[in-house]
Amino acid sequence: MKLVLATGNKGKLREIKEMCQDEVVAFSELLGDLEIVEDGDTFAANALIKARTIYKKLSKEKPSEAYIVMADDSGISLPQLGGVPGIYSARYAGKNATDKDNLYKLIGALKEQGIKHTPAYYTAAIAIVCGYGEYVVHGWMYGEAIDEARGKKGFGYDPMFIPLGYDCTLGELDEEIKKEISHRAKALKLAQPIIKMLKQKQGR
Ligand code: IMP
Repeated sequence: MKLVLATGNKGKLREIKEMCQDEVVAFSELLGDLEIVEDGDTFAANALIKARTIYKKLSKEKPSEAYIVMADDSGISLPQLGGVPGIYSARYAGKNATDKDNLYKLIGALKEQGIKHTPAYYTAAIAIVCGYGEYVVHGWMYGEAIDEARGKKGFGYDPMFIPLGYDCTLGELDEEIKKEISHRAKALKLAQPIIKMLKQKQGR
């Protein structure tokens, strides 16, 4: 049985691999590069699209193994700006935008409105797809977005996000702290018993 991650995002891959004691494999190691059209209108719908696509492809192209496919769809939302970038976090600054482009576009949007800090939250939806069915769990992390980038740790919007109860951004905070409090860590905690149960059903 292989636990496969349906993501090509390096930041997510690193965090999920560190947080899972399980041996997880990135889909690209098995299937190479693949572009998946994420046209759902929620984080959950997009996570399911990714997990289903990879599960179907693996079952068709490498049927000798049983798979549990896990996909994370995530992003940051700023209610004062109408919830942007939300599900569009990865492509906020355009289709081929880098993390840096997206970060500075969001900082620019705050500056444009003269907002120095505003409530913000990260959402992670984790979908699990295997021969026994489909599951989705969520995790959230609340805090504030600020109009500047501070620190180099984490990835994506982390340098402009201060988690509730802290006075540093995720770009400045020890990465061990993010592992405890993040939206992804919370969703993974809920995913773990499901994966354990599915492994037992699959005879491992
Ligand atoms: P997805 O790969 O389509 O789910 O897009 C996720 C995007 O949301 C990433 O490219 C980041 O811009 C942002 N994001 C999600 N989780 C995090 C995080 O933990 N830190 C910083 N940015 C994140």
